[in-house]
Amino acid sequence: TNPFLNLHYERAVESLGEDYYDEVAAAEFPQHILRWRNDALLHRLELNPQLVKDDDFISAFGKFEERKPLLALCYHGYQFGEYNPFLGDGRGFLYGQVRGTDGELYDFGTKGSGKTPYSRGGDGMLTLKGGVREVLAAEMLHHLGVRTSRCLSMIETGLSLWRGDEPSPTRSSVIVRMGRSHIRFGTFERLHYLRRPDLTKKLLDHVIEQYYRDFITQEDKYVLFYADLVKRTAELVAQWMAAGFCHAVLNTDNMSITGESFDYGPYGFITSYQPYFTAAYFDHYRRYCYIHQPGICKWNLETLQDALKGVIDYGDMQAGLAKFDEHYQSEYRTLMLKKLGFEQLSHPEADELLNLTIQFLQGSEVGYHQFFYEMARTFSLKWRDEPGLIMADSNFVPASGVSEVFDNWCLIYHKMLNNFEPEQIDSIAQTLTRQNPKTVIHKPVIESIWQSIVQEDNWQPFYELIECIQSGK
Ligand code: AMP
Ligand code: MG
Ligand code: MG
Repeated sequence: TNPFLNLHYERAVESLGEDYYDEVAAAEFPQHILRWRNDALLHRLELNPQLVKDDDFISAFGKFEERKPLLALCYHGYQFGEYNPFLGDGRGFLYGQVRGTDGELYDFGTKGSGKTPYSRGGDGMLTLKGGVREVLAAEMLHHLGVRTSRCLSMIETGLSLWRGDEPSPTRSSVIVRMGRSHIRFGTFERLHYLRRPDLTKKLLDHVIEQYYRDFITQEDKYVLFYADLVKRTAELVAQWMAAGFCHAVLNTDNMSITGESFDYGPYGFITSYQPYFTAAYFDHYRRYCYIHQPGICKWNLETLQDALKGVIDYGDMQAGLAKFDEHYQSEYRTLMLKKLGFEQLSHPEADELLNLTIQFLQGSEVGYHQFFYEMARTFSLKWRDEPGLIMADSNFVPASGVSEVFDNWCLIYHKMLNNFEPEQIDSIAQTLTRQNPKTVIHKPVIESIWQSIVQEDNWQPFYELIECIQSGK
């Protein structure tokens, strides 16, 4: 018997009733080739990877045998600032919900599994390249310490898709992602649009019961929920910023109500520190560029207040949102200091070091990830004794024009190290190595593995890349 069919599926969303979803059927595909199974996730389902066959993945997550109902969730959202009431799961559905060994509820959500009532003009499908890109992004972000959904499986489906770009026609896939929830800001925005505060309240109760359990018995649970959503979202975007990640399409339908990343657009990781790096070619006004992300997330949270104000007091929500910057700054500072090797945050030089780091990265052409990786690679105890040695060792040579900034950076870093005894320096080296892996999925890296797949059907580079990401190399 298929272990995925024997999991205990909870009917959390289903129990809310049909106002929130439509039952749908999966597409039938000409082929099912399992291209990726994420065994790292199976333990959380209490499954032993060795006992799960490839065929189990295929019959559950490619053929969608037996499992019912499959739910296309309803939502609207603000896309590039404009309200769109014609969204909803147009190429995916909620396959099921299971309790992890950590006690948390997880969604299995599909992408590329066929048309639904919300497909509009779309074909309900996902390109193979889109699947490959989502698998890689999720693994990369997870291993960089970002809260994110991850892909459980990717199956090539044998259909040819017409998309205009890429090789045309292009290959297709269906993925199943495992994440906290597929309830979005836009799920609430739709209920407001429909003028249904009763449904809003019911959904809020559900969200608190499942994802904000600490507040269930609190009298002001709705206020606490919103304040915590602000905190989670601020921390999430700080994690993206420290990771150098640009989501690309931060529409409110791509914002999870649990504060987790999912549904990345045509994302990109910054190469050098370019604040206005914009990942989506269709983002003409750079609305979702790298540096705008914190402000956009805050805007999305503020816009969500409209949808919630029938249930939650507006003033209370404003007070919650007022903490966004503080939450963001605090998380960003913590993460960046870690990238520089420091777990403790109270050293007098810490903020000056952070400022100089950003100033240097922005002023020079040096790669964002390369800078930290090279630093981790060359770091030594000697740096504590002599600032000149940092410069002599460093491969992260400053471009002309910022050499003065880099000189200062070396001095401050040296000063910072002098807060530590020589025997503590090793733990700094370890933090540096842990926080700054060599592997980053910049565009040429993804293009190169994609070319192997397209030209030779060679998946080895893809598996090797995931192996590097997962092992923190
Ligand atoms: P996304 O850009 O993936 O966040 O999707 C935005 C909206 O368009 C959602 O309602 C999707 O379900 C829908 N959509 C995107 N691509 C397709 C497709 N190929 N077929 C049907 N609907 C789609
Ligand atoms: Mg319905
Ligand atoms: Mg989306």
